[in-house]
Amino acid sequence: MTDHIVRATAAQEHIRAFAVDSTDTVAKARELHMTFPVVTAALGRLLSAGAMMGSMMKGDKDLITLTVKGDGPVGSITVTADSHGNVKGFPANPAVDIPVREDPASGAQKLDVGGAIGKGMLTVSMDLGLKEPYNGQVELQTGEIGEDLAYYFTVSEQTPSAVALGVMIDKDSSVLHSGGFIIQLMPDASEEVIAALEASLAELEPVTTLMERGLGPEDILRLVLGDLDLVITETKPIRFYCNCSRERISLALATLSTADLESIIADGEDIEVKCHFCNSAYTFSTEELQAILEQRINASTEETD
Ligand SMILES: [Zn+2]
Repeated sequence: MTDHIVRATAAQEHIRAFAVDSTDTVAKARELHMTFPVVTAALGRLLSAGAMMGSMMKGDKDLITLTVKGDGPVGSITVTADSHGNVKGFPANPAVDIPVREDPASGAQKLDVGGAIGKGMLTVSMDLGLKEPYNGQVELQTGEIGEDLAYYFTVSEQTPSAVALGVMIDKDSSVLHSGGFIIQLMPDASEEVIAALEASLAELEPVTTLMERGLGPEDILRLVLGDLDLVITETKPIRFYCNCSRERISLALATLSTADLESIIADGEDIEVKCHFCNSAYTFSTEELQAILEQRINASTEETD
């Protein structure tokens, strides 16, 4: 099976768990945004998290947006996911080349995601079809994204969570493996359950090491929660998908000020507008821009009548 999410419960529903294989999704993101390895890793981790958090939402039209904004060279990363396994995202700066760092625990050379992101904030915004979107924000703990999200769940949603996210990059900069899991303690979990989970997590190797050995999301959940009455409740595909279109881009252009639109039209040249999320380019002629402007003026006249 290609990219997919597995949803599960354990310990008589005192634990809920999500795990994902996002290898193709992240490979697609790398191809669209031409990201350097450390940015592929950072964007990939956030895409994995977004896909899993999207699947936590119940509504058909619910959307979740994760934004990591730091003072490091990547600047910011934005990821949006729906509840159907569609996820998309982009980095402010895809071309970041910083030295690898040595992992203090294993001595292995690792991409310095935390250094590329820097200090800053993680924002989670959920559009659940209510009047106001839900917004939660926490300070980045390490910029490594997994720890930052664990902190977010604990502080903002009062749900103690273990979050593991990883992207393994090949020598040619392509994506070998990408995946992760989110394991959450529900209220009233007993001390025994918490201790068993902690012991199991303490022994666990990095997600991409497990994937390299051929383990999929189900296997990884079995490894962590197998002794805690794991029940797999759902498996569904995920993909990198952007829903942009000429129409959506022209709606965005229609939000420009009249002065801005008039000045673009006065330049007399076609303009190219790129979708941030997927880099698709849309060209608009001055005639089309004129039509957008006139349509809008007509619309606003109708309103005041
Ligand atoms: Zn797009």
